[in-house]
Amino acid sequence: MRAILTWHSVDDSNSLISVTASQLERQLDWLASGKVLVLPVSALVTSTDDVDAIALTFDDGFTNFSSIAAPLLQERNLPATVFIVPSKVGGTNSWDVSSGRPEIPPLRLMTWDEIRRVEQQGIEIGGHGLTHASLAGRDATFLAAEIEECTSIIEASLGKRPSCFAYPYGKYDRATLSAVSKTHAAACTTRFDFVTALDAPHELPRLDNYYFRDNRMLESWGTRRFAAFVKFRKAGRTVRKAVGQATERRR
Ligand SMILES: [Zn+2]
Repeated sequence: MRAILTWHSVDDSNSLISVTASQLERQLDWLASGKVLVLPVSALVTSTDDVDAIALTFDDGFTNFSSIAAPLLQERNLPATVFIVPSKVGGTNSWDVSSGRPEIPPLRLMTWDEIRRVEQQGIEIGGHGLTHASLAGRDATFLAAEIEECTSIIEASLGKRPSCFAYPYGKYDRATLSAVSKTHAAACTTRFDFVTALDAPHELPRLDNYYFRDNRMLESWGTRRFAAFVKFRKAGRTVRKAVGQATERRR
């Protein structure tokens, strides 16, 4: 069984994108216990379905990654990938605040110095779009700016070309896929599921830790209970998406 986990922010706000430091620490303790292999995304993608492994990803590049998550990862020798938004480096998650999701607080994003420091600790840095704009339904010029410029700024700042990308809001279409495939070896979505050999490397599903933060579900990895939970959540999200699309069509 293979999966990629998603975190965003480590803070006490209890928002949709937040886990507390103690919740993260509990999860990382279990991940470091040896009960499952923890691999970088690139190694997880090229492994096979008989490998029992998890990859750890953090979206957006919040300052609390460098101050809280990175030291916890380093203490436990766990690899992870952080997806950053180059035009917002050193700023805040203004896209969350302007998207009408008031439950998500404004949070500081890492500076380039902080990003370089975690990168030197062994954290992989990936792209998450130049401005965190949705990349579905966009023309080639917009996609080139958001994807290629994101890549070249990261390369110029870190001296290393990012190989992995995460679609902002999990949104993409064929044009996005084509543009991301030209520039990256792999890309992560927000589709809630395990990774299997059937998944294309640029449409990798992930399991959002929002669903694991208050329970001990992650610790039941590998059991029927865990598989049933993923199946249940996946079905719930599919139904909500279909209902949303039906509502959209009626407008
Ligand atoms: Zn994001």
